Amino acid sequence: MAYYESSLGHQFINGQQVRGLGPVLERVNPATGKKLLDVDTASLEQVDQAVHAAAEAFTTWSKLTPGERADHLLAFARELEKHADEIAAVETAQTGKSIRMSTQFDVPGSIDNVNFFAGAARNLQGLATGDYAGNTTSMIRREAIGVIGSISPWNYPLQMAAWKILPAIAAGNTIVLKPSELTPGTSVLFARAAKDAGLPDGVINIVVGDGPSVGAPLVRHQLVKMTSFTGSTAVGLKIMSMAAESGTRVHLELGGKAPLVVFDDADIEAAAHGAVAGSTINSGQDCTAATRAYVHSSVFERFTSRVAELMDAMVVGDPTDPDTDMGSMISQEHLQKVSSMVQRAKDQGAQVLAGGHQLEGDGFFYRPTLVVGAAQNSEIVQQEVFGPVLVALPFSTDDEAIELANDTPYGLAASAWTKNVDRAMRASAEIQAGCVWINEHILIVSDMPHGGYKASGMGKDMSQYSFDEYTNVKHVMISHDSRAHREWQDTVFK
Ligand code: NAD
Repeated sequence: MAYYESSLGHQFINGQQVRGLGPVLERVNPATGKKLLDVDTASLEQVDQAVHAAAEAFTTWSKLTPGERADHLLAFARELEKHADEIAAVETAQTGKSIRMSTQFDVPGSIDNVNFFAGAARNLQGLATGDYAGNTTSMIRREAIGVIGSISPWNYPLQMAAWKILPAIAAGNTIVLKPSELTPGTSVLFARAAKDAGLPDGVINIVVGDGPSVGAPLVRHQLVKMTSFTGSTAVGLKIMSMAAESGTRVHLELGGKAPLVVFDDADIEAAAHGAVAGSTINSGQDCTAATRAYVHSSVFERFTSRVAELMDAMVVGDPTDPDTDMGSMISQEHLQKVSSMVQRAKDQGAQVLAGGHQLEGDGFFYRPTLVVGAAQNSEIVQQEVFGPVLVALPFSTDDEAIELANDTPYGLAASAWTKNVDRAMRASAEIQAGCVWINEHILIVSDMPHGGYKASGMGKDMSQYSFDEYTNVKHVMISHDSRAHREWQDTVFK
């Protein structure tokens, strides 16, 4: 039997892959426009069962030693490696992303995450340990929170599942994840590999369905002690207000509109390559994708003509072909949204130097697109397009470049291209974003935090910072000289 068997169902509850009892959704293959499969969704009772399974599993999983949890995660990583090719194929089929992306980035990145958090599990850090009253010893305990409810988007289904699940369970929590209803396949495979590797039932549970029917009840469930969400800013704000009803903790990774600033001393060839890779990665459906290139006016034409040339040379099409550089968009609706935003920019006077159109035929493909002549306050510069669309705008001074880079509601990521160390340090300090790359735009690693400023969210994925967010910090003070302590009490309370 194939490792991915969609007929078994898309729910993973208490160690069992089962069919959802909610409505069935038809999912189309975005690369062919033809029906791919039926996606079963969870009923309210199944959401409740999944949360109860996680709560039950918490009682034992949270009591394991960090070393025991780390051993489980290392076995989990080995199990994922065994099925890497099939997981990559499912990721490509459900998203339309190129198989090169799935095999070279999504699957190894997710396995690296599992390995990283196996190490992090054994690194329970406390910042304040010592004797503060002369006769006490203080220490920090980092404790698991409980059941985590998590909601993820469709653009990197496998990696988003990993970013949510791993820090949570490494810290001793258990989790119920609701992946996007468009792309549930690899989240189910992830949970299945964990079970096959010997993780106890109920530690990882998956429930599938749309946001209002399955996501919202999960966030509102009284046994869920924290919600971690990745998705759009609009939905993230709704999640925050739902969580506020019960006062539970939230972790939000939201939208982005990353600037790429090219100073006049930059290596223009490197910057052009970085801009194309950064804006077309995952068909531009990436929260950190380069979307706004601010380029010094003296190098503007050189930069834009090279970017257009590189974009025009990209192979767009069948995502299963290893020669394909860029696959499809996620859906017809999303393709339409991207195409309409470019059209409205043109209607307002912008010019398109590359792409700007979809491919003929079936499937939801959009050519890599370079737009110039758009106004800073226009929709295409201010709002998330979430497609392979880069808008280039000129600037004259460093002050202006930094001001423009900061001039959107978002603050997830940014890049600055320069050989001048002063400019690089200034950009890294003054650009308001959770990540500032210098002479690079897109590289993400498990060891370093990822998360936004401003409307891009709160909290960090990956790295020790993420692990720490899934813990409660407890101060334990031990008094070990009762005579001295009584003397102190006498002076205060007499
Ligand atoms: P989305 O906000 O539409 O959906 C995200 C998830 O929320 C899905 O699982 C969806 O079913 C669920 N959801 C929707 N409405 C809900 C509700 N009322 N209650 C509970 N759950 C609900 O986002 P999307 O279109 O799936 O993904 C694209 C967005 O995700 C972009 O804005 C992108 O920038 C963002 N994103 C951010 C990061 C990051 O790390 N900051 C990473 C990837 C994607």
